[in-house]
This record gives sequence, structure tokens and C-alpha cells, in this order.
Amino acid sequence: MIDVEANLKTVADSLPEDVKLVAVSKFHPDEYIEAAYAAGQRLFGESREQELQKKAAVLPKDIRWHFIGHLQTNKVKYIAPYISMIEAVDSMKLLREINRQGEKCGRIINCLLELHIAEEATKTGLRLDDCRALLADGEWRSLKNVRLCGLMMMASNVDDEQQIGSEFDTAWHFFDEVKAAYFADDNAFCERSWGMSHDYRIAIRHGATIVRVGTAIFGPRVY
Ligand SMILES: *Cc1c(COP(=O)(O)O)cnc(C)c1O
Repeated sequence: MIDVEANLKTVADSLPEDVKLVAVSKFHPDEYIEAAYAAGQRLFGESREQELQKKAAVLPKDIRWHFIGHLQTNKVKYIAPYISMIEAVDSMKLLREINRQGEKCGRIINCLLELHIAEEATKTGLRLDDCRALLADGEWRSLKNVRLCGLMMMASNVDDEQQIGSEFDTAWHFFDEVKAAYFADDNAFCERSWGMSHDYRIAIRHGATIVRVGTAIFGPRVY
């Protein structure tokens, strides 16, 4: 078995104190999560609703789960009762459903808006102009069971560190823009979730407050 504890320590030690580490455990067995948990990790990320359900049912209750994948609206109800944050919200329709399910279980659900900045056509998320339009429309203000906590994005999957850094900067500037326009008095809107195994070191130099690291902790995923 891969040395989860040593890998976790290496990653955690390289982060500034105020950057949160989401250990991305998707596709990895419960034992890997338990090993990270035993080493003190409490924040984990999953990207498939059914897999998360199974894990959340049997693993320690003080784990905070972030949903980091694309979430279908018809799946929101299953995770609404316990999810700590839904990171990849990319439509008003999804936000409305999260609000509806949050209301049903008496929770205010933390959400990040996912930006699409990378060049790849396959990446999900809101284009900057679409995100501007969503916020300008203002309907989100009426969603009392949703708390917008910031932005999330994935950089292009390239080796060019400069390109990656400049994509993070684009997201960071955009964060400052919407923070000033809509969330200046809202302390909850403070998170910038970017950086994965291959680029989290770059991300922390470019404004990340949350990094989502899987492979560097748990090894390669077996799909
Ligand atoms: C899988 C995944 C990660 C982690 O990727 P690694 O390269 O294994 O660190 C981070 N963010 C999202 C959205 C993911 O889907």
C-alpha cells in the first residue's frame, strides 16, 4: 500500500497555514481515507454522488466532505443533508435545487461557483461573462439556504507553468472583481479553490485558499 501518511505530510507541510487542503479521495478505497484520517486529515473531496454516499455512510462522521465534481440536479437531494461544500456550481438551475434541498433539511449549504478559464473545450464551469450575468441578475440573493463562499476552477492540463499561473491570476482578478461588486460586506465569500497535484504549488503563489489534491496523496487512481 502507498504511504498515505507520508504523502499527506509532504503536501500539508508545503502549504501556508491559511490554505486548506482537500484530500481528493475519489476512486480510492475506504482504507486510504482511514489512513489519512488517522494522520489528522478531516477534509476530503469526492466527485461522484453514489461513491460519496457509500463512503460517508461508513467513515467517521466528523469528516467534512466537499463535492468537487459536476453535480446533476437530481442528485443534490442525496448529499444535501451532510455535504460541507459543493464546489463546482455552474448554473442557476443547480443553485436553485441546492437551495430547495437545503431548505428541506434545514441547512444553509456552502457553495463555490465554478469558473471555466482553461482552454480545453471539455472543462465545465461558467465563462466569466456568464458568471457576471448570474451575479448581476441577483436571484441568488433570494436563495436563503445557499451560502456563496467563493470561486473554484481547474487550470489547463499543460506543463507550461506560466500559462497555469496566468489562468490562476485570471481567476484571482475575477474573484476581486466580484468580491468588490457583490460581497464586500460578506466575510463568507472568501475562498479561491484552485490547484491539484500537478499545480498546487503554483496555485498557492496565485491566490489559492483551498487546494484539491488527490494523486500526490493517494497515488494514481484505478478507474
Ligand atoms: C480529481 C480532481 C482533483 C484532484 O486531482 P489530482 O490530480 O489527483 O490531484 C481536483 N479537483 C477536481 C475537480 C477533480 O476532479
